[in-house]
Amino acid sequence: MSGDGKLSEAQAAIASAFGPLEGARLEGGCGECNAYQTVEPFEAGVWTMTVHHDDWCPVLKARS
Ligand SMILES: [Zn+2]
Repeated sequence: MSGDGKLSEAQAAIASAFGPLEGARLEGGCGECNAYQTVEPFEAGVWTMTVHHDDWCPVLKARS
């Protein structure tokens, strides 16, 4: 991040979309299991979305 800490217009738009999702569990994110997704703040105006797969998920196994 550079500058004075203000969000750009694009970042502000993202913030308004993802900010309310913080801490929420969103259904989906994987076609193979009953995964859910969480949204966590990464830095100002930036969120990371994590997909939480079931233990048995083949996608998860393929990745590890
Ligand atoms: Zn999965």
